[in-house]
Amino acid sequence: MLWFRRDLRIHDNPALVEAVEGAWADGDGNVVAVVLIDPNLWPGWGPGKQAYLIDSLRSLDESLGGNLVIRHGKAQDVIPAIAKEFGASAVHCAADYTGNGIARDNEAASRLSASGIEFVKTGSGYAVAPGRVAKDDGTYYKVYTPFYKRWMIHGWRAPAADPAKAPNWIGVDTCDGYPERPDTAGVEIPRAGEAAALELFETFLAGPIDTYDEDRNRPDLAGTSRLSIALKWGEIHPRTLLARLGDSKGHEVFRKEIAWREFYAEVSYQRPDTFTDYFNPLYAQMQYDTGKEADEKFAAWCEGRTGYPFVDAGMRQLRTEGWMHNRVRMVVASFLLKDLHIEWQRGANYFFDWLLDGDLASNSHGWQWTAGCGTDASPYYRVFNPIGQGIKFDPNGEYVRKYIPELAHIPGGAVHEPWNVPGAFDHGYPEPIVDHAAERLEALDRLSKLPKGVQVAQNPHDDDLKIRPVKKAANPKGK
Ligand SMILES: Cc1cc2nc3c(=O)[nH]c(=O)nc-3n(C[C@H](O)[C@H](O)[C@H](O)COP(=O)(O)OP(=O)(O)OC[C@H]3O[C@@H](n4cnc5c(N)ncnc54)[C@H](O)[C@@H]3O)c2cc1C
Repeated sequence: MLWFRRDLRIHDNPALVEAVEGAWADGDGNVVAVVLIDPNLWPGWGPGKQAYLIDSLRSLDESLGGNLVIRHGKAQDVIPAIAKEFGASAVHCAADYTGNGIARDNEAASRLSASGIEFVKTGSGYAVAPGRVAKDDGTYYKVYTPFYKRWMIHGWRAPAADPAKAPNWIGVDTCDGYPERPDTAGVEIPRAGEAAALELFETFLAGPIDTYDEDRNRPDLAGTSRLSIALKWGEIHPRTLLARLGDSKGHEVFRKEIAWREFYAEVSYQRPDTFTDYFNPLYAQMQYDTGKEADEKFAAWCEGRTGYPFVDAGMRQLRTEGWMHNRVRMVVASFLLKDLHIEWQRGANYFFDWLLDGDLASNSHGWQWTAGCGTDASPYYRVFNPIGQGIKFDPNGEYVRKYIPELAHIPGGAVHEPWNVPGAFDHGYPEPIVDHAAERLEALDRLSKLPKGVQVAQNPHDDDLKIRPVKKAANPKGK
């Protein structure tokens, strides 16, 4: 029996190879391929993720010749029941390293074992499974660069070859059926599944990767792979990507980004509490804003109406594509934390609900990095300038105009400073809800009140500390 979780592909899938070869070793080659939908967990996944997963399962089903068995129920109960139903000698899957996943698998394994059924975990969603890259003293790395160096030395296996002989997929007549595909609340769901992921990768390899080192910070260009969604669902394995990379600058930088994903998986595995808690607990003592006014600001941030075009474009990209460019993720996160003084978990939860690539490890640690409280974190005093970042990384304003129709009439980079443009607010775009320069000072003041142990010195080399003043609108709406 083969239990698919976050590995929704048939190629380079070591658990599938083990299951199929094990079935032929038993003589009959029969394998039941199962996916579980837990009715307790399913409603908690926003509609975008539900729709994407359904599309991905349909694609997997097609690759299996229509033999995917979908069952509804709690894994710990249902997996042993299906294994017994089909007389399976083993249940195969890829290892899961998230806190709940580990507990769920341990329970399933002990129930299976009580019935004499083996629980076999082969491979994981990472090139190097969490727990394997350690310092000489056996502890885990808390800083990315030494992790990366050791990860490179550790190395990874070549992609797994397909099984020598195809199995007999069985059991589809026992399928409970797909959950209903929900209305996606305006999120355009990209093409899901392994074939789409492989095509995306080929397109990236055919061009954008060569300038990735420079273009990956430009949200106005198609400069990144967009593979995060496929990686999240295991429609493609990072090893498949790494196997095709060479030594040019673009390839090297891309490999380093894959390593960030592995680094955060490692840290989360070692510190599962940091999915929700501070990696550096000192920052829990910072003064954060709550209450009605903070709620209103939070709503403006969520809906992309803060009056800062680069921030708003990012938040609207999230709501229309279920994805946001990495540079803009950092800027919008910094804005929530240091301009609106709202705690990182609130933003992380919102991201997790809307991101189709929403991944506990990368999301929580991406937020903690920006908040200054994570591993290898950007220092708290680094306050991203939402205007300067837009001008630098979206110089012609194309990214902003794409997502904010109310600003479509402003040509060029001027769109990042609408308060300097007569008539800019005539189409309903709001004026800034806060003054960035003032809020930055407020953030630094709150930082200075933290107990000793938190670095408060400013980094003189940090471009983002340069403040661009927000002027009053030249021609506010209605005047
Ligand atoms: C606040 C915040 C929240 C984030 N939340 C998530 C999340 O929930 N899920 C997620 O996959 N990524 C998250 N990231 C990381 C990053 O933004 C996305 O992985 C990236 O934008 C995905 O686009 P891409 O596939 O085109 O990336 P590319 O630039 O093509 O990079 C290739 C792959 O490398 C990995 N990667 C790249 N940058 C990072 C990074 N900073 N951290 C971890 N892995 C990285 C991803 O798997 C990505 O698909 C977050 C970053 C921040 C700052």
